[in-house]
Amino acid sequence: LHSTERTFFGHPRGLATLFGTEMWERFSFYGLRAVLGLFLMAPPVREGLGLPAATAYAVVGIYQGLVYLTALPGGWIADRVLGARRTVLWGGAVIMAGHICMAIPVRGPALIWAGLTLIVCGSGLLKPNISSMVGYLYRDDEDARRDSGFSLFYMGVNIGAFAGILVTPLLAGEDRWHLAFGAAAVGMALGLTQYIAGGRRLRGAGTRPGDPLTPAERTRALRMLALAGVLCATAAAIAAATGVLTIDNVTYMATAITLLVPFAYFVYILRHPQVTAGERRHMTAYVWLFVAAAVFWMIFDLAPGPVTGFAHSHVDLTAFGFAIPAGWTQNFNSLFVIVFAGVFAALWPRLGDRVGSPAKFAFALFMVGLSFVILAAASGVAEAGVKVGLWWLAAMYLVQTFGELSLSPVGLSVTAKLAPAAFKGQMLGVWFLAAAVGDSVGGQTYRLRAFLSETHYFLALAAVAVVAGAVLLLFSRRLRHLMSEHEAA
Ligand code: GLN
Repeated sequence: LHSTERTFFGHPRGLATLFGTEMWERFSFYGLRAVLGLFLMAPPVREGLGLPAATAYAVVGIYQGLVYLTALPGGWIADRVLGARRTVLWGGAVIMAGHICMAIPVRGPALIWAGLTLIVCGSGLLKPNISSMVGYLYRDDEDARRDSGFSLFYMGVNIGAFAGILVTPLLAGEDRWHLAFGAAAVGMALGLTQYIAGGRRLRGAGTRPGDPLTPAERTRALRMLALAGVLCATAAAIAAATGVLTIDNVTYMATAITLLVPFAYFVYILRHPQVTAGERRHMTAYVWLFVAAAVFWMIFDLAPGPVTGFAHSHVDLTAFGFAIPAGWTQNFNSLFVIVFAGVFAALWPRLGDRVGSPAKFAFALFMVGLSFVILAAASGVAEAGVKVGLWWLAAMYLVQTFGELSLSPVGLSVTAKLAPAAFKGQMLGVWFLAAAVGDSVGGQTYRLRAFLSETHYFLALAAVAVVAGAVLLLFSRRLRHLMSEHEAA
């Protein structure tokens, strides 16, 4: 970079474009997420879908899970067909179409399901590829600047989330859901405009697929796609005809698929002929971190589900002299990330080599476990029939955010580091798969409420996190050994 060139906080100007696009995309994603659970549960007289809580939370979990699951095909499309740049553009357009569908104020769920499906597909095209494009802005030897570029980008994510979570619950009130969905559509439109207008600054990053399909591969891929389409349509038709096509069954099916995909994908990577013995050793260690991350997201991403449900029913929401919407409580997280991200980013290089990623992940699991102990305590107090103070949720989200900051950025960079050469382009999609697994399994956990009180439900999840963290800590030396570069493979 020449010294006369204009920069974006010392970074290539293209980062401003990606920052702005992702900020508005996350505005729409978190904005929708902030009201989705309450909308699904609200009775039809309040314009909602009237679903039981366990079903509604499962839908919220699956929706989040699928948004991250489609990162895998999304990364593949960029790498082999369209290039990241055009894939992101298509993704933004499809997401916007999804939000528009949901904003159309007709009764009945058809447009809602269509809209959610579009958002899931569009996010898969956009999310992993816009993240890889951040990486493309830097030369191979610019590791430190790339890391700080990603930190800045994560800031954009959370500024967008904060604004989205601020706007949609206010617009939605108790029955104006479509207005909130409309705001998400407007946000995504602004993101797209920004992406198109700022395209020049990207200087050709991601214009071409890294590893384009050969004509023979293209024919095979199209055939597979057609076959999959026919199989899905047939399965759906049979399910509809026999009456098993219920929302609950669709969520079970989606959870099963979300669990199977990473399993199959890891087997594929580990057996791939181009993966060396050393890379295979790295991947074995990575699988452990992957499972730990899945457990973390399973609990963390309950925010728009059971946690907001708890805020709605059991928390005294008066603040600043008026009753704030329950969805706003999700913003404790965005706020704390904005405040503390810099502290954690400065902390990691200082700790240097002493604390490895397994220990950071274990810390994250302990934090998310502790956060749910706090939530369980609040729930215990609420069982007496009183509304608990807002600060319970503030404390819960503070502890949780400390966990997020020791797992999420660390995970991105460890994924990039451990990726086998043949899978470099697709590994970010693999990282998002951990969130996919966690979110869709997490969505199903509320069904345990059939056997457990709410307090015990939160405690059970806390126990899972703490046990997972302890196991990881126990094996952390072994894992670091597996991940190290130096020994002979
Ligand atoms: N909060 C971050 C984002 O939305 C991380 C999400 C994730 O990796 N699951 O980008």
